[in-house]
Amino acid sequence: MKIKRLDILGFKSFHDKVSLDFQQGITGIVGPNGCGKSNVVDAIRWVMGEQSAKNLRGKQMEDIIFGGSECRKPLGLAEVSLVFSTDDGRVPAKYLNYSEIQVTRRLYRDGESEYLLNKSQCRLLDIAELFMDTGVGARAYSIIEQGKIGMILHSKPEERRVLIEEAAGVTKFKARKQVALKKIDVTRQNLLRISDILSEIK
Ligand code: ATP
Repeated sequence: MKIKRLDILGFKSFHDKVSLDFQQGITGIVGPNGCGKSNVVDAIRWVMGEQSAKNLRGKQMEDIIFGGSECRKPLGLAEVSLVFSTDDGRVPAKYLNYSEIQVTRRLYRDGESEYLLNKSQCRLLDIAELFMDTGVGARAYSIIEQGKIGMILHSKPEERRVLIEEAAGVTKFKARKQVALKKIDVTRQNLLRISDILSEIK
């Protein structure tokens, strides 16, 4: 999957809608201090499902909504869409027929939020599954911010293993294993209850 376009509206310093097209090769974002370069990276991280306001350099999630400036009033909604091309075929099978995948996240000031996949409402889990094992995603290694290399070098072996597993494509299977184990556990509890009921009837 390759990033094709990023649309930002009402996110942090972006009051008006801004669309960034990512062409072939390397894209660099340059500008004076405080102009919003890091906010672009925050927008990418946020739309891919980041849940921690701290990781987006805020105190609470509402801080990501445009909070007003000298000449503009605060907005009530932040919306970011990230569009991926599917040309390389490295997408989950169910998206192979789409020429692009659009992931959208919205947050209203009252706290209500929405996730959309190709403009249809979805769950955060659907977004997380889409990015699993791709190296993209809110927590994956595709975003290397200041201090991250040092953090990886100084991390515990178990923490480093998470990154290696993501690169090796194991994350999806581990997540599915957890879901399967939970189902087995619920089934065991149900069987236990049934055998209790049966012994009461006898
Ligand atoms: P530097 O080069 O110094 O690292 P930068 O270009 O990466 O700077 P950012 O950190 O992306 O800049 O943007 C900082 C700007 O974003 C500040 O002017 C800040 O006031 C503005 N900003 C952050 N959150 C909001 C918000 N919710 N509403 C309005 N403006 C915001």
